[in-house]
Amino acid sequence: MLVNKTSREGPYLVRTDTCAVTGKKGLDSELTKSAVSGKPALPSAIVRCEVTNEPALPGELGFCSVSGKRVLPRLLVQSAQSGRYALPDFTTSCAVCGKTSLSSELTACADTGRLADPTCLNRCAVSDKLVLPGLLAKCDATGRGVRVSELAECRDGETQRRVAKDCVTTCAYTGRLIGKDRSAVSSVTGKVGWVGVLSSSDASGAIAHGDEMVRSVTGKLVLPSEVSVCPGCGGRALLEPPHAEEAFACGSCHQVVCVKDVAPDGRTCRACHAALSGSGEDRAPPIYDAPRAKRWSTAAANAYLVALSYPPAWQLLAKPRLYVTTPSGHLLFDRTPSKTELTAA
Ligand SMILES: [Zn+2]
Ligand SMILES: [Zn+2]
Ligand SMILES: [Zn+2]
Repeated sequence: MLVNKTSREGPYLVRTDTCAVTGKKGLDSELTKSAVSGKPALPSAIVRCEVTNEPALPGELGFCSVSGKRVLPRLLVQSAQSGRYALPDFTTSCAVCGKTSLSSELTACADTGRLADPTCLNRCAVSDKLVLPGLLAKCDATGRGVRVSELAECRDGETQRRVAKDCVTTCAYTGRLIGKDRSAVSSVTGKVGWVGVLSSSDASGAIAHGDEMVRSVTGKLVLPSEVSVCPGCGGRALLEPPHAEEAFACGSCHQVVCVKDVAPDGRTCRACHAALSGSGEDRAPPIYDAPRAKRWSTAAANAYLVALSYPPAWQLLAKPRLYVTTPSGHLLFDRTPSKTELTAA
């Protein structure tokens, strides 16, 4: 507004304006214009940008949320993540999407150190660390995304595999690194090995290394604990439940022998068959009170002895008798075999 003033030289016109803060009138030359809005204000009412020192009205300045400085709004950058404002020195753009956020709101890629939004980074399934997209590789065992540096090369299949380190172990038999998904524990030694060098028991399916297993009398590969020594032939055989697949219970001598020890007629064990058929040796069993006999038919198995005595001719009513003993002569039992047993044999 123009106002009439009078000086010694006479009346003249001056430009005045109203202070936008106080509402007081002042000469243009006394008022300062805000660098933000262009509005005039008295010097006492003016505030200044803490960076450029430019004038502004109170309330027109922005606030840097990092440094705490009051500055011109145009100097401030808004964080794409939090919406907070800060001076450019305190902001960085995400290495992935390019959006600007406060530097403190970004996370450094664990592999490259480049800053990015946490949501723009990928999390390693093993270390939980964040890295730029593309720096994770798939674990061939679990399918999880893992940093390349946390993968191990495994030779546990047709082709080499890359497996997360927390999913890798060393084969106790080959010394190679293998994926835990392709490992098994030996039920004999408890060692962990690659499934490719382990076998399963033909009896129970239990896993072990071939060197830790034994062959049964019929050629089955089984755990040592699954077989026992056959009293018939002395071989290792599946004689005890629940794996008594190779057992034969002889009804004559009550011994449980292996199927290899069954007489050709399938009725008794070989020793009983020999004794009952009279083809055994003519010698008394080593028992303390062996009776007098006309002759003997004695057959020895690995852990027992079957002996048939033929009574002397003068014992008219006596019948042949069968003795089952241990090799050292301990009598297990004796009985009189039936006529059918004797004729069948
Ligand atoms: Zn981003
Ligand atoms: Zn046997
Ligand atoms: Zn028998």
